[in-house]
Order: sequence, then structure tokens, then C-alpha cells
Amino acid sequence: MTASNTVRVRFPPSPTGLLHVGGLRSALFNWLFARHHGGAFVLRIEDTDRARYCPEALPDLLDSLRWMGLDWDEGPDIGGEYGPYFQSERLDLYKQHARQLVDEGSAYYCFCSPERLAQVRQEQMKRKEDPRYDRLCRDLDPAVASDRVAHGEPAVVRLKMPLTGQTTFHDLIRGDITVENSTQDDAVLLKTDGFPTYHLANVVDDHLMEITHIMRAQEWIPTAPRHVQLYQALGWQMPAIAHLPVVLAPSGRGKVGKRKQVIAGGRALPVHVRDFRAAGYLPEAMFNFLALVGWSYDGHTEFMTRKEIIDRFSIERINPAPAAFDYDKLDHFNGVYIRQLSPDDLTDRLMPILEQAGIDADREMMRRIIPLIQERLKRLVDVPGLVDFFFVEELPDYDPALLVPKKMSAAETRPLLTEARTLLAKITPFVSDSLERSLRALAEARGVKAGQFFTPIRVAVCGRTVAPPLFGTLEVLGREQVLGRVDLALDKIASLAAHS
Ligand code: GLU
Repeated sequence: MTASNTVRVRFPPSPTGLLHVGGLRSALFNWLFARHHGGAFVLRIEDTDRARYCPEALPDLLDSLRWMGLDWDEGPDIGGEYGPYFQSERLDLYKQHARQLVDEGSAYYCFCSPERLAQVRQEQMKRKEDPRYDRLCRDLDPAVASDRVAHGEPAVVRLKMPLTGQTTFHDLIRGDITVENSTQDDAVLLKTDGFPTYHLANVVDDHLMEITHIMRAQEWIPTAPRHVQLYQALGWQMPAIAHLPVVLAPSGRGKVGKRKQVIAGGRALPVHVRDFRAAGYLPEAMFNFLALVGWSYDGHTEFMTRKEIIDRFSIERINPAPAAFDYDKLDHFNGVYIRQLSPDDLTDRLMPILEQAGIDADREMMRRIIPLIQERLKRLVDVPGLVDFFFVEELPDYDPALLVPKKMSAAETRPLLTEARTLLAKITPFVSDSLERSLRALAEARGVKAGQFFTPIRVAVCGRTVAPPLFGTLEVLGREQVLGRVDLALDKIASLAAHS
């Protein structure tokens, strides 16, 4: 490819809030397309809506993209040949093009007050018409209008949409889309405060930044006809365009990005990228999972490396139908990716999460716990609740009744646990294999089911009934800790037996 036809795509978020997974999916598809073609991925900040500006948004955006490994070739922090990459620093460009459009008769000044517009709107709604600007200023004498502007009268610039005919554009995913021009509004391009609207800024920047392909959310389809008209009016070739399928919340109702969180099955589920990160989803799992939200390689291959996804990505295989964001599937992907991590890598990722949960975990010990939990782990954030009991000198108080297995009494349990204690004091080496062998043999000798026999031991050392595999747990805790905890359990069970 020569420089002039190198693929250039952009991700142009508006910094109005935290990045959600729908936005991340748009970024990912653009990034994949750029990397597939050896092109450029441009990050542009569309910060022209001052009223909705959120200072937290930009750092959150950059962190989120970096977390997933979506690097940009040009952008606000690193600059590039086509900068600046903040729209708020490009206002002169927009004004200049707005003026050009007015001079050439493709746009016009509109002096209507917000009050008048509201009234027009209200009347249209009453008549059950689509609310739309009634074009009062469209036919003003341009010289008179320019004069009023020159005298300081506040005005917006509006696009002069053709009143008849049709506008057609080709969507790379959806094919040709045609609208009747008579259904279109004369959209505002430049506001009274001198800031452009999305339409003008987006078109001017995509052109000046030599963007070759636009891949944006489906919700923007209705704006495309006016963008087509803008490109035509400015005498520019429009980039190829594709509208990505919406990302639906798991209920199938509504877009995922319109909420702070999704409630499903009684669970509050994250929506913002930062919350997925905090919940311990692995970026590599999210990358693979998200690539399949609206795109597929062959309809069935699910697990692919980053490189495979880049090699295989194509716009043709993006499905126009709305795509569900399936949290259960993400959990499954996360589990698979967690199992692929080396124990050392997993330990490294867990240490900060444990610290955050207020657990003073010894790294070496955590490294030894990994084989006990790695297999069943779905989210890193579940780990503190699984391993906290390893890292305490004394177990938090637990209900003594938990020590008593089903279909047994405290009086029956007590001698069994006493015998187990005697054995635990002796077994050498104190490792999982020999612990298992000896304890199973004892259960059998006493004619007690293994499950019943192990319950009091498990509760004694973990303080609960559901815990990582018992023998490995005993090994990691070590004989001294185990005996101390069993002694405590024996005290508890003694008082329980005395009271029953
Ligand atoms: N600023 C727009 C947004 O945040 C960009 C849409 C687009 O053209 O990709 O949704």
C-alpha cells in the first residue's frame, strides 16, 4: 500500500462520562481493523459539548484503552501529524468551514431564539408531527443575515438540506441506506457560542485527518444523510462507513451503555470498563470476548489469541443484528484465561486485589494456594473470599453447628474429630497425598462416609463449609496452624455436645 491509501481509522469519544463496554467494543473493532491492515488507529477527543464535559472521562478513557492493550498511533497525549487531537483546540477550523458553507449557500445563519424553537416544537408535537426546525431563517437574504451577524446578533449556522430527492450512502455492513430528503432536518452545525456540533466537527476532522474508514455505533445511522450532504457541499470524498451493531444488556432490553450497571439474576453487573477491571476480569479475556460481540470468524471458533483475531478480523464478518453482552459467557472466558496463566502470573495479579480487600497475604503462601483455586476461579475479585482464612492467626468466630455433619450429632462428631487430631499430629510428611490417604483410611475404619468425616476438619481449619480442596489446604496451612484450629473446634464442639 502507498501512503495515500493506508488505512486510517479513528476512535472519537466524547468525554462526557466513564468509558462503557459498548464504547470499548467500538474502539476494539477500529483498532483490530487498523492492525489487520497495518494502518493507523487515531484517538480523537470530541470535547465540544461543554455542558456535558466530565473531567474524569479522559484519564479513565486512556487507562481503559491501555488496560486492553489498544494502543493508538496518534492522539491527545502523543500528538501526531494531524493534530491537535482535542476538538476544543480546533475551533477555528470549524468556524472557517462553517463560513465557507454559508458563503457557498450550503448553510445559513439562523437567528431563532431557543424560546421560539421550543414553541415551534410544541406546536408540531401537538399536531403529532416530527419535531423539526421550521426553516424560518432559511430564506433570509444572505447579505442581510451576514450583516446581522457582523453586528453581533447571536446566530447558529444550519445545514441547508435539499428539500426534495433522496440521500443514499453505502454502509459496509448494511448495504445501501436511502432516506427521503423531505424527512430531514436542517441540522445546526455551529452553535452561538462558536462551538461546532458533532456533525460539523466530525466531518471536518475525519476529512482533515484523512480517515479512510468510519466504524461507529449504530445509533449514528440517522445522522449519516446530513454527513453525506456535508461532504458533498465541501467537495470532499466521504470515508467508507460502517455502523456497528448495538450492544444489548443481558435482558435483551436496552443498550448496555445507557446504564450505570445492569441488574440480572439479582446480581449488579458492571458496565463501565473500569468496573470490569476492578472485578478482576483479565484484559486478554475481555479482548477475546468483546471481539465476538458482533463479529465472528467462522461462526463457531471462540478462543483465539490476540494475533489470530487481528489476522482474521474483517468488516464483512460483522453481523448487523444487535449483539447481546452475555455476562455468563464472559465469566466462562475469564475462567479459561485464568487457567492459562502461570501460577506466578496469577499470583502477581491477585496480590493487589488481596491488599485492597485488606488481607495481609504472604506472596509465597499465596503462590502455594494457587493450584487449589485456579481451576475453578471465574473472577479474580472472588479470591479474597476464598482464601482469607489462610492469612489469619485466628479464625473469625463461626457457628459451632457447622462442625456437625448432616445426619450426625455433636456427641458423635466429637470423638471423630479427636481421632483426626491425633492423626494430624503424626502424619509425616504433612503433605496433601499422605494426609488424604491417612484420613480416608481412618474414615473407612470407623465406618463413616468420607464426606461426613471431612466436614468438621474443613470447618475447623477454614471456618466454613465451602472451601478449597481440603488436603491441599491442610498442607499449605501447615501442621501447627491446623492443630491449633482443630483444638479450637474441639472446644466449640465440646460445649455444643454438653448443651445438647
Ligand atoms: N463523539 C461521538 C461519540 O462519542 C463519536 C461517534 C463517531 O463518530 O464515532 O459517540
